[in-house]
Amino acid sequence: MFTLPDLLYEYDAFEPYIDAQTMEIHYSKHHQGYVDKLNTALEEYPDLLQKDVKKLLNNVEDFPVDIQTAIKNNGGGHANHSLFWTVISPDGGGNPKGDLRDALETRFNSLNDFKEEFEAIALSQFGSGWAWLVVDDDDDLQVHSTGNQDSPLMEDETPILVLDLWEHAYYLKYQNRRADYIRAFWKIVNWEEVARQFKKIRS
Ligand code: MN
Repeated sequence: MFTLPDLLYEYDAFEPYIDAQTMEIHYSKHHQGYVDKLNTALEEYPDLLQKDVKKLLNNVEDFPVDIQTAIKNNGGGHANHSLFWTVISPDGGGNPKGDLRDALETRFNSLNDFKEEFEAIALSQFGSGWAWLVVDDDDDLQVHSTGNQDSPLMEDETPILVLDLWEHAYYLKYQNRRADYIRAFWKIVNWEEVARQFKKIRS
């Protein structure tokens, strides 16, 4: 069975950037909902319930047609939120260091250019979705968005940074001001974890 990952912080840890009520509902209702629906959808496939959800997404076309949509939507929802909780930290913010910083500057010219591109893509995603920094299958850093709960893992990309763009992630505090929510994200990004994910791919 799939289960919610533990959070390493309290619901109010991201005030004033993300409010405690949003964090609580987001984790205990929305993320829990994806986990529950994934478990229900895979009830008849006990071997799949033992797998890493990332492996399910990597190979979604290999599984029975009747569960592919559930894997994309609820498996994606589980994997995307699980990564999202790790790339934010109450001690976050600032800028990346070391190899990740070098790679971002090489790819996007500067950290500011990277952040501007990420913000623009997050802002222009129509409807619900996610903004990503990924390492693609040529080992290059890319920024893009996906709709719904679609995961870059389905495209042979490895996500290392992600921002939830669903209204449930910000609406209580920001209402229609998605741009303010996106800019506030930089105050809480856990660059140490993003760098750790980046290093894991490279090694
Ligand atoms: Mn969400």
